[in-house]
Amino acid sequence: MAATFFTAVRAVLGDDAIEHTDAIRAAYGSNRLPGGDRRPSGVVFPRSGADVQTIVRLANQYGVTLWPTSTGQNLGLGEYSPVREAQVVMHLGRHMNRIVDVNETLGYAVIEPGVTFRQLRAELASRGDTLMLSSTSGPPDGSVLGNALDRGAGYTPHFDHFGMLCGLEIILGTGERIETGDAALGGAKTRHINKSGFGPLLDGLFSQSNYGIVTRAAIWLLPRPPAIRSFGFTFPDEDDLAEIIERVRPLKLNNVVPTLIKVTSAEYGFATKETYPFDRTGGATPLPDALGAEFAAKHGLGAWTVTGACYGPSFDALEPTISRIRSHMEASGKATYVAHEQIAANPVLKIHLDTFSGEPTDSELGLLDWRPGGGATWFLPATPMIGAIAAEQQRLSVEILTRYGFERCVEFVCGPRAARALHILLYDRTDPEERQRMADCYAALVVAYDERGYPIGRAPTDWQERAMSRLPGLATVTANLKTALDPNHVLAPGKYGIP
Ligand SMILES: Cc1cc2nc3c(=O)[nH]c(=O)nc-3n(C[C@H](O)[C@H](O)[C@H](O)COP(=O)(O)OP(=O)(O)OC[C@H]3O[C@@H](n4cnc5c(N)ncnc54)[C@H](O)[C@@H]3O)c2cc1C
Repeated sequence: MAATFFTAVRAVLGDDAIEHTDAIRAAYGSNRLPGGDRRPSGVVFPRSGADVQTIVRLANQYGVTLWPTSTGQNLGLGEYSPVREAQVVMHLGRHMNRIVDVNETLGYAVIEPGVTFRQLRAELASRGDTLMLSSTSGPPDGSVLGNALDRGAGYTPHFDHFGMLCGLEIILGTGERIETGDAALGGAKTRHINKSGFGPLLDGLFSQSNYGIVTRAAIWLLPRPPAIRSFGFTFPDEDDLAEIIERVRPLKLNNVVPTLIKVTSAEYGFATKETYPFDRTGGATPLPDALGAEFAAKHGLGAWTVTGACYGPSFDALEPTISRIRSHMEASGKATYVAHEQIAANPVLKIHLDTFSGEPTDSELGLLDWRPGGGATWFLPATPMIGAIAAEQQRLSVEILTRYGFERCVEFVCGPRAARALHILLYDRTDPEERQRMADCYAALVVAYDERGYPIGRAPTDWQERAMSRLPGLATVTANLKTALDPNHVLAPGKYGIP
């Protein structure tokens, strides 16, 4: 079936619209997850929304399933590789990578799926830097749209990337084209600025789902503040976490700090710059505490390092706010203040400043080299902003990770009510025993957190179907919606556990 589909796509869209050599299938099937690579049967490269419609209609006709992706930089979550073997990857980003419009007055850009954080940053710089995007700490060549659709997140006040999309243009599984919000009225002048006009908000249906292919949308942008002044605090002990979270919560609930506040474990910090010292541990894992403390000291980190940033008209104007934050954190008796200049000069801490400033950075990708063999998988539950609960979760994570021989590379990205508890789990993917151990470790984390009432969040592709099987109520309604929107189930069956 795939062969006749490829022939049909070629006939309509040309020879270069599709590739299905073994080399291409291997490249697009590879990922970093313990669940293994998943090879597509081929890759299609649309040039426009109309091409996407053509491909979707042919997929219906020939009984082929499609895995749409923008730039495939979902590192540690699946990359380009589909949720199931033999789906045809639709690589939107190769050709559909235009910044269609930038509205500097109302603060938004209309973009195609292939527009990357690096590209949008450069475009805004070339226009005089009046606007700022919210970037991730991940790959600068990731797609702004792809990241948002997967409900990725940043660190500025626009951290909720999906929430910043407006007026989505979507091709459904039938090939039908729809637009969301005010954009539903063709030519609406409010299409990129108002999503809460008439009728149900459909936008959410197209995040972490397989109901449609998004071919264009507006992303809202912030005015770039004249001054961005970061602050940091190191805390010496792992057990300081409960107090840190209690102190960070009011800073966010009361809106003292406009960025999210990061509470970063030493390991998450120094592993961006170091590699695992097997020679000093005699091959043993996980990293002994004494070596962790040594690396932390080398890089100017505490057991926990707290960072955030304030925006204002000038550095001096921000001084009273920084002083207030400083007094509040130092009242713990445990915090050591780290000034903006020290943060800017420290390569590990500079990552945080970049993310608070909408600057894409590839420095955090050093984490992927901490262990040999490049394996990585993200575990992303939410943590209530209650110190005792964060500490309980951390004890649980450390117990499980240590049992399986892995480090506690954890960062709490704190908002007013909940933090994203970023766990990047790093392992040697070329070692079958270690890969299995990571798979078992991941399962243990999911089950332990579930049992305590903290469900898995954004999930790697090799966990999406299992995660949904643990949520029977959601499984039924999402399956019913799938049948309505994509009756032949041509779009990514299995994605986020939706058939
Ligand atoms: C060290 C490190 C740090 C990271 N930091 C962050 C971080 O701070 N924040 C964060 O969010 N992530 C982070 N990541 C994870 C990830 O690398 C980024 O989120 C990255 O931007 C996602 O890849 P992408 O943008 O290319 O999206 P893609 O891989 O293109 O897409 C992501 C998902 O959305 C779906 N999709 C994409 N485009 C479409 C479309 N047009 N229509 C329908 N479905 C679509 C795809 O099926 C895919 O599952 C980090 C990763 C690493 C290794």
